[in-house]
Amino acid sequence: MSDLVPLEDAQRLVLERCQPLTRRAVALKDALGCVLAEPVTARTSVPPFANSAMDGYAVHAADTANAPVELEVIETIAAGAQPTQRVAAGQASRIMTGAPVPDGADAIVMVELTTGSPTSATVTVNEAVPVGNHIRHVGEDVAAGDEVFDAGTVLTPGHLGVLASLGVDAPMARPRARVGVLSTGDELVNGAIHDSNRPALLAACARSNFEPVDLGIVGDDGDALTKAIEHGAATTDVLLTTGGVSAGDFDYVKRILDTQLQVAIRPAKPLAFGLVQQTPVFGLPGNPVSSMVSFELFARPAIRKLMGFAPEQLHRERYTAIADAPMKRHPDGKTHFIRVTARYDDADGRWHAQPAGGQGSHQLLGLARADALAILPDGVGVEERGSVTVVML
Ligand code: AMP
Ligand code: MG
Repeated sequence: MSDLVPLEDAQRLVLERCQPLTRRAVALKDALGCVLAEPVTARTSVPPFANSAMDGYAVHAADTANAPVELEVIETIAAGAQPTQRVAAGQASRIMTGAPVPDGADAIVMVELTTGSPTSATVTVNEAVPVGNHIRHVGEDVAAGDEVFDAGTVLTPGHLGVLASLGVDAPMARPRARVGVLSTGDELVNGAIHDSNRPALLAACARSNFEPVDLGIVGDDGDALTKAIEHGAATTDVLLTTGGVSAGDFDYVKRILDTQLQVAIRPAKPLAFGLVQQTPVFGLPGNPVSSMVSFELFARPAIRKLMGFAPEQLHRERYTAIADAPMKRHPDGKTHFIRVTARYDDADGRWHAQPAGGQGSHQLLGLARADALAILPDGVGVEERGSVTVVML
């Protein structure tokens, strides 16, 4: 067992060799979930001009002090239009939400507080309003010159909205990583086994906000594998292969990559890794559950590093949960990751977990039912009602 590498050491070894992708201008439509590579400073103010927060009338607040009062209506200003007249004492302009406040006016009266019609030449204001009423001032949201977002900001829909409102259509960010997925194995080429790793990993990439690239299947042939890996490395930012990293006679992938690890975990003990033309290549194990667990523990954090996430943002969230069923195991020098369903219970304010099905590394159904992995450190496991750490998937 002495050749087993602790999980944290294996993760560090891989992460050290992965560097963030080159920053570039990323179009807003491609930027959701991407990480800003430099701060964003507002070049314009938002709102860019004083405008009405209500449908109503732009007036002199002083005229309304003794409401009700009848005012002369001099024009109607729609959103997107420019006022053409100055509002004098005793006058009002009909105004729509978002339209520029006309010169002279210092308050808006909402239409509900008036009596009149769109065509009448006068309006009666029924209540007094203060100066500034329902006026959105220039720069009330963002002032020109303000630094609105730091470098390192992870872009949410809200951030994208602010950037658009500032006229920024392609902020400097780390691009979404293009992740190639390649399955290996003669049994997949000849159809004896359906290829389940590739669709599962492509989906896992999509759900992690990476850009999946389907590179197909290649058989257990050293030359063909070398070619496929070189092609994948040349055309993607990260390459994931599955299969061919254990101790079999036809396990060629691990011979192509420079680092082979036996990690002290179960499932997903074997892992191969290397840089091919500077592109990180992960040789994930072939067993379906192992390939997904290995993706979660090694590839996903590394790809997030490529996308510019900070060290504390690389890994999934962990919770302490109550085991609703026993999770037994035997000491073997390894950390076990078992597939569980996890739920937060409002009644006791705690997370709860229970095994999601068969735990063999070839038993994909348990993974399909699971929404978390429970971490069982080396030892005998956890009793029912015991405390267990879960990683949400
Ligand atoms: P290997 O590491 O290549 O020896 O593969 C380990 C086990 O995983 C074997 O039973 C393979 O048939 C199976 N396997 C490998 N790749 C896949 C795949 N893409 N889809 C389903 N099963 C696979
Ligand atoms: Mg194989």
